[in-house]
Amino acid sequence: MNEAMKLNRTEVADSGVYLYPCLIKTVYVLILTFLPTKCRRKGNSHIAMARRMAPRWFAPAFSLRAGSRKAGTSMPFDNDDNFLRFDSVKKSYDQKTLVIKDFSLNVARGEFVTLLGPSGSGKTTVLMMLAGFEDVTSGDISIAGQSITKTAPYKRNIGMVFQNYALFPHMTTAENLAYPLQVRKMPKADVKERVNRYLDMIELGDFGARYPGQLSGGQRQRIALARALIFEPTLTLMDEPLGALDKKLREQMQYEITRMHKKLGFTVIYVTHDQTEALSMSSRIAVFNEGVVQQYAPPVELYEHPSNAFVAEFIGENNFIPGNVRSIDGKVAQIDIVGGLTISATVGQGLSVGGRTVVSVRPEKLFIQPTEQAYENEISAAYVTHRYVGDFIRYYFQLADGTEINIKVLNDLAAPNFVEGEQGKFVWLIEDCIAFPA
Ligand code: ADP
Ligand code: MG
Repeated sequence: MNEAMKLNRTEVADSGVYLYPCLIKTVYVLILTFLPTKCRRKGNSHIAMARRMAPRWFAPAFSLRAGSRKAGTSMPFDNDDNFLRFDSVKKSYDQKTLVIKDFSLNVARGEFVTLLGPSGSGKTTVLMMLAGFEDVTSGDISIAGQSITKTAPYKRNIGMVFQNYALFPHMTTAENLAYPLQVRKMPKADVKERVNRYLDMIELGDFGARYPGQLSGGQRQRIALARALIFEPTLTLMDEPLGALDKKLREQMQYEITRMHKKLGFTVIYVTHDQTEALSMSSRIAVFNEGVVQQYAPPVELYEHPSNAFVAEFIGENNFIPGNVRSIDGKVAQIDIVGGLTISATVGQGLSVGGRTVVSVRPEKLFIQPTEQAYENEISAAYVTHRYVGDFIRYYFQLADGTEINIKVLNDLAAPNFVEGEQGKFVWLIEDCIAFPA
């Protein structure tokens, strides 16, 4: 039953349909409504049973109940890159195939690190191993120099935010926020003070007496965020927390999370498949594909200097021009492309003379002639069509071998006009294109 639920959650959450997990969750919420009061007196066997039965996305409810303050405060914090470390972590669910192939990552305290990758690339699995709800098949995870791979989830002092809020529906907003503090036995007066402070911080100061059912999606997610932060966890994990919100609310919440992060300085491991979200919020991003980190770097570096064709394609947009490497001189390669043309490109990792290559160049780095922009490469191609996208126009050209070239031009008076089939010339700099081995 547990396995079926896990798979279902993954599939359903990834496809953006939330009804089924919500139903299952409600059942567990109802179970929990009784557990804390009735079962504690009788011993913990029911709690242990519910913990075993609960799907993995609900597990934080249990860790909030039992979480230990000591785990967070007794650790000798350091400020270097080694606050959180994954060392060659591998994960297999079926003992045959590795879902996470060899995952290593260093995170400094206070960083906002995002795991970015296509659906099914293993992002949630990494978070679940970090939180302790999935075993590590091999390798090690450590926080502040101490291995946590054998530490029980509730002792890791980790806060979590999910797409589906996971608020207790029978508790008011203030009670939801007070809960993690009460289970940590914080004195009543301090709980009240801190709950009010956090409600004010998320600008819901007047909403303390409302129930989750009386709040909008955005407000609920702000409460879920505050609840994950209020007990000052060692780490806060967020698994696609904004996936259920519409675009406008999502942008507001991105701002809200960034603001809280700046103000409170907590450490975040954030998961998303939305690259704009990752680029605008993170101190560093790890781009995932098939359980392997392709590149781990700050947003600007990732965008400007992708280390391979997968990252170049995944982050932002790129044109890919196929060709052969004629020569390499230091950082610059000469590439023969279709129609007897030669272009110069920055040498990408693993490029070798004589090999096949794809040269990546972003649509906004290409300029249609005539232009005042400086340039080192110039080629021509047949105009196909263009599309207005409001503040800019997208032009589509085609090389003789059918390779499509997409150019983004500001929608101003200088935007050119072409007729179908007409040859257009466009130019760009060597530093704006990278030749990757194909
Ligand atoms: P992501 O969060 O990047 O979409 P996941 O970590 O959820 O990816 O899943 C990575 C891979 O592991 C997928 O192929 C998924 O089907 C598989 N997987 C995830 N959870 C389980 C599980 N509990 N049992 C078996 N396979 C799983
Ligand atoms: Mg996921």
